[in-house]
Amino acid sequence: MTIRFTKHQIAVMQTALDRWGVNAQAGQTVEECAELIVALTKHINRTPKPESLENVIDEMADVEMMLAQMRLVSGISDERLHEQIARKFEKLERHLKNEKETNAL
Ligand SMILES: [Mg+2]
Repeated sequence: MTIRFTKHQIAVMQTALDRWGVNAQAGQTVEECAELIVALTKHINRTPKPESLENVIDEMADVEMMLAQMRLVSGISDERLHEQIARKFEKLERHLKNEKETNAL
């Protein structure tokens, strides 16, 4: 499920960063996250339709591309991100286990 970008796509993202600057791209990242929030909210809160799912996918793609650019400028390695994700999974698993034990009482 990991999003992988080609060398060409990474070069295009670097060109965008060079052309528009980090601040503009960081602002665009925030904007794309907000658009994903709206798309998900509409898809969940209304009767799900194929077009609303397409909109979610479209905004997810925007967010993935912007997050990749933020990782490029911050020099966050795959390894560092995977370490953090592993910690988050440990926390999630603890939470799921505790919830299961609480419900069993
Ligand atoms: Mg968008």
